[in-house]
Amino acid sequence: MGQYQAGGFQAIQEYFQQKFCRFCAHPFASEGIQLLREEPGVLVVRVTCHTCSKPLGVAIVGTAPRNQKERPKVPHDWTKKDIEKLHNRAPISYDDVLDAHAFIHQLGSDWSKLIPRAGRQAH
Ligand SMILES: [Zn+2]
Repeated sequence: MGQYQAGGFQAIQEYFQQKFCRFCAHPFASEGIQLLREEPGVLVVRVTCHTCSKPLGVAIVGTAPRNQKERPKVPHDWTKKDIEKLHNRAPISYDDVLDAHAFIHQLGSDWSKLIPRAGRQAH
């Protein structure tokens, strides 16, 4: 445990180092990209400008392990059409990060109430 997604995080760091801070126009540095959480198939990273310390936001990034065959992992209920439509999508984009940040921000402090409980009660 712990190292199976390291390649994914490195790719994310490399991705953001090609992007520029919208406040000070410096490129993001790997020091400003922090891994908050790591789960199988998902990385949560916080991106902060290392130069001016302004936060870009939090990104929730799906990662596909490279060492698991060539086939992309898709939900079992996807149709062939879904796969054709979605499998070419880039795993992450600059806009995704901004969207995630806006989404998390609008949840406010009560965000944990919005998470569905396991074992939902029947009415
Ligand atoms: Zn900056």
